[in-house]
Amino acid sequence: MNRSKVALVRCETYDPNAVHEAVRKGLDLIGGTSSLVKAGERIVMKPNVLYGTSPDKGVSTHPSVFRAVGKLLQESGARVFFGDSPSFAPADIHMRRAGLKQLAAEMGIEMADFDRGRPVSHKDALLIRSFVIANGVLDSDGLVNLPKLKTHPLVRLTGAVKNQFGCVPGLLKSQYHVKLADPYDFAAMLVDVNTLARPRFCVMDGIMAMEGNGPRSGKLRKLNVLLFSTDPVALDATACRIINLDPEIVTTSKLGEKAGLGNYRSENIDLAGDSLESFFCHDFDAIRTPQEHCTQGRVKTFVKNRTCERPVIDVAKCTNCGSCVEMCPVEPKAVDWRKAAKDRPPAYNYDRCIRCYCCQESCPEGAISAQTPVLGRLFSRN
Ligand code: SF4
Ligand code: SF4
Repeated sequence: MNRSKVALVRCETYDPNAVHEAVRKGLDLIGGTSSLVKAGERIVMKPNVLYGTSPDKGVSTHPSVFRAVGKLLQESGARVFFGDSPSFAPADIHMRRAGLKQLAAEMGIEMADFDRGRPVSHKDALLIRSFVIANGVLDSDGLVNLPKLKTHPLVRLTGAVKNQFGCVPGLLKSQYHVKLADPYDFAAMLVDVNTLARPRFCVMDGIMAMEGNGPRSGKLRKLNVLLFSTDPVALDATACRIINLDPEIVTTSKLGEKAGLGNYRSENIDLAGDSLESFFCHDFDAIRTPQEHCTQGRVKTFVKNRTCERPVIDVAKCTNCGSCVEMCPVEPKAVDWRKAAKDRPPAYNYDRCIRCYCCQESCPEGAISAQTPVLGRLFSRN
């Protein structure tokens, strides 16, 4: 595989002019927009929206990053669209909450259809040879990926590779969680989405990152960095190095290399722009243990439930809203009301739980986090 290039540019504010200059500099370092897109092409920007909240919450790609990339694409003569398919559809509401819909309207950027999709085959897939991909992606000439640097309990990092999962429309995403209970099968599917809908380039918003209980309820951490690459694997690996996370811990890294999507090893990545060391954040709060394969059988499930991390509800924060119950994709539900009593926090049945963390992502109170049982913590010390 060819070597990959990742550019890092310092930007300490979301001031639109400062971000614009930083984005222009970063894109020039990876070849410039004129080499990445052609005039007249239909290009779709794919921000990370997840669950639309105001930009200061740090859940979604910041509007200033969206604005800068959109403007530079327009200057290059591309016809620019945008879209995402949050698991909590419809996308329209979340785009508005995240401040992107209004901004896009001001800029003359239309929303592409990410609510519905069409089946496509993927002959070179690692695992999934038939996908339904959003119409907005299939009808485009190219995709520009705008991830946010955040932690994620399932993949460990939600960066460029994970962001492409939003190319799968709406609730179809939860079916993949159910079908692919093993975290490495899920990661292979994410890589397959990327090789099918390979982004032209990626711009990662790491000005304000999210640590701890990401991707929705973690703490904000200022890293003051924007990252640029045509290789989503190399981009994620470089983000990992900034936050002192071994890229091999991220489930998509090795699989991304195997599929030819990109490079995660530092010896195959050329860095440009500001120095990597200048952004190091050694105490960034992230899960640093490798994912466990999903094991089958009663004994293995018994051991797994007592040693491997799992979602836990902080009852003091829970408002009994029921969002976690609604979002749990397995049947019967792995998190549900106790004896149908909706005036108390729901409870987990870990034997049924596939550790997809849809419940954790959906919780509006940040009451659910991934925690390792006492026995697992003891083992990991040995
Ligand atoms: S309880 Fe949570 S982590 Fe477990 S299967 Fe349901 S949504 Fe996924
Ligand atoms: S989503 Fe969060 S607040 Fe709502 S019931 Fe579940 S744990 Fe409680």
